Amino acid sequence: MITFYPGPSKVYPVVEQYLQEAFHEGVLSINHRSQACMNLTRTAIDLLHEKLAIPQDYTIYFISSATEVWEIMAQSLTQQHSLHIYNGAFGEKWAAYAERIVPQVTRLRFEPEESLATLSLPNHTPDVVCLTQNETSNGTQVHDWSVIAQQYPDALLAIDATSSMAGITLDWQKADVWFASVQKCFGLPAGMAIMVCSPKALARAFAIGDRKYYNSLLFIHENFIKFQTHYTPNVLAIYLLAKVLALQPPIATVHQRIKAQANDWYGFLAEHFNLSKTEGLYPLIQNKAVRSDTVLTIAGEPALIAQLKQRFQVAGITVGNGYGAWKDTTFRIANFPAISSDDILALKEELLKISYIQYEL
Ligand SMILES: *Cc1c(COP(=O)(O)O)cnc(C)c1O
Repeated sequence: MITFYPGPSKVYPVVEQYLQEAFHEGVLSINHRSQACMNLTRTAIDLLHEKLAIPQDYTIYFISSATEVWEIMAQSLTQQHSLHIYNGAFGEKWAAYAERIVPQVTRLRFEPEESLATLSLPNHTPDVVCLTQNETSNGTQVHDWSVIAQQYPDALLAIDATSSMAGITLDWQKADVWFASVQKCFGLPAGMAIMVCSPKALARAFAIGDRKYYNSLLFIHENFIKFQTHYTPNVLAIYLLAKVLALQPPIATVHQRIKAQANDWYGFLAEHFNLSKTEGLYPLIQNKAVRSDTVLTIAGEPALIAQLKQRFQVAGITVGNGYGAWKDTTFRIANFPAISSDDILALKEELLKISYIQYEL
């Protein structure tokens, strides 16, 4: 099976072997307060710092999902007001989760082709500003949010990097909270998320002092300084994370490969599919400055998209459906590190068959 689904996505093939090793090593039954488990947690955290170049003074926690981090943000890091700046479905969902918990939520929507630099920012004093680095639903990304940082100097900046962390380099110092679940660029089975906090974020958690919930950030933090967790964790997920990370090159190297692959995909489409908005296939996002490197959204006429999806299915290749309003006019291709060049070749071959049919007709 070949999958380009943007989450849950392809896991590294070596996971098969590590699953067996975990079983034989007895990892699946170890006590979560044992030294062995603490060592495992420590190894995984050290590898995250090392491989993803996360600053040493930023703390790392294992959470069950990105969705749970949305709630932790609202419960433990927001006193009164959170501002959500988004252009797609995941950013919008985050705002909806915050609205159930946070007294005041401001939504600021921008267009997928728009860059943050041109936004007019409300004259508020939010505790937290929430941004989605890579919007998985439409294939856009943001890199430069300096205008936001300048406008709200006291606010914490929280970044959902679920579909980009471990795929591209992230400028950790430019935000206070970062998070991602592991079923996207980490190439692992779903069920765990990584949350990264700056010293400023941690100080804010202590100032707020939330201890009402099992997943209050302070409880989580107190456990993690001992390399323990706030509940019995999925030890297998921690094990797989450590094993798979150990094999990875530094993130700068991964980034180069992912970038080159993205450029190659766009070049391929331009060459074979006549990148125009009236025929063939073209990137949904035309503004290269905001186009995602890790989730490519390809648009075309609904009849062509339907025909393609059918072909992919026959060939045993899964791609991502279009999201929401783009359901019938786009499909999405994950450009995640676990996807091999052979997988990409197979998908390109299927696309080329369509291209011949199109142009013969
Ligand atoms: C997939 C995704 C999520 C949700 O992740 P879960 O692990 O299901 O909670 C959140 N944000 C973005 C940007 C995503 O791509």
